Amino acid sequence: MPEQKRDYYEVLGVSKGASDDEIKKAYRRLAKQYHPDLNPGDKTAEAKFKEVNEAYEVLSDKDKRAKYDQFGHAGVDPNFGAGGGGPFGGGFGGFDMGDIDLGDIFGSFFGGGFGGGSSRQRSGPMKGETLRASVTISFEEAAFGCEKELLLNRTEPCDECHGTGCAPGTTAEVCPDCHGTGQVRIQRGGGAFTFSTTTTCPKCGGRGRLIHQPCQSCGGSGSVRKQRKITVQIPAGIDNGQAVSLRGQGGAGKNGGPAGDLLISVTVRPHPCFKRDGTSVYLEHPVTFLQAALGAELEIPTIDGKVKWTLPAGTQPGTTFRLRGKGIPSVNGRGRGDQYVTVKVQVPTSLTHEQKEALRAYGEAMGEIQPGPVDSVKSFFDKKKKRK
Ligand SMILES: [Zn+2]
Ligand SMILES: [Zn+2]
Repeated sequence: MPEQKRDYYEVLGVSKGASDDEIKKAYRRLAKQYHPDLNPGDKTAEAKFKEVNEAYEVLSDKDKRAKYDQFGHAGVDPNFGAGGGGPFGGGFGGFDMGDIDLGDIFGSFFGGGFGGGSSRQRSGPMKGETLRASVTISFEEAAFGCEKELLLNRTEPCDECHGTGCAPGTTAEVCPDCHGTGQVRIQRGGGAFTFSTTTTCPKCGGRGRLIHQPCQSCGGSGSVRKQRKITVQIPAGIDNGQAVSLRGQGGAGKNGGPAGDLLISVTVRPHPCFKRDGTSVYLEHPVTFLQAALGAELEIPTIDGKVKWTLPAGTQPGTTFRLRGKGIPSVNGRGRGDQYVTVKVQVPTSLTHEQKEALRAYGEAMGEIQPGPVDSVKSFFDKKKKRK
């Protein structure tokens, strides 16, 4: 299940109406405060850093922010459908990026020095690329959720070397210059004025390891491009233009960093009869004049199938009635919307002689027309003209 998450505005300490500038400022301040470089080994800071980054990723993007404002975390949450026990918890093809412990990575790469240059980040663990895909689903699939298969072309840890980049049977050497930290300390000055700075290890380029025999499959990079078929769970209630984000299903991370995310934008095909606005469903339903006048037992189509509805006698054209709970489920899992049915009274366009007679009899009974011959309507008006 997706974990309980803090409100993104709360994470950044800004109000819901905050301007882009306020959001950017708040982000910069917090990212600096919790940056792993400045808090080596501090797991709380690291978690905060991730949280702040996630909040900024959403609130700095106009589209994502709008979705978040409307649907909360479900609209943009990268964990959606990818929680621990979910269908993606186990990973694909025998690897599981979810198992990588960010704390250990940051511990080994950032643990060595204090402060230091920004060049460290370039050679440290990096999150994999964000992959984008799109699916088109039917109106009903959007309403009730569905599973879709996607073909992805993404980088994955190399099977041959399990991501190490070393030829089978060989291992990388811990860099003797930096002892695996990727950082070296350089002493400057002399005597009472000696000071040291930390910089990226030039021998290993900050990787902390030296590969003497690179893996032939991946050329030592540790990752390869692969085509993967994955099954995606589209949540019930998703709307046209929304996206499902799956954490860790994007490209392989670099230097032990976590895999990127997969963003799937969803297009919902329109329905021939139903229209949708949020969780509400709208339907125009034809009834005959007789049904509207005398009342009737109707069978109204809904996304759940037909339901019975008693049309009261004397229903006027354009009357809308509501079928509670027959709308679209909320994408947040909180209840369902309603269906609104607008009555369309149909006027017959072609009538037989008998039908015309019957309607005339009705007209006479209503006092609309006077008794007369078959073409009495015409003659009625003719008479009226002559009287004048
Ligand atoms: Zn390899
Ligand atoms: Zn080194």
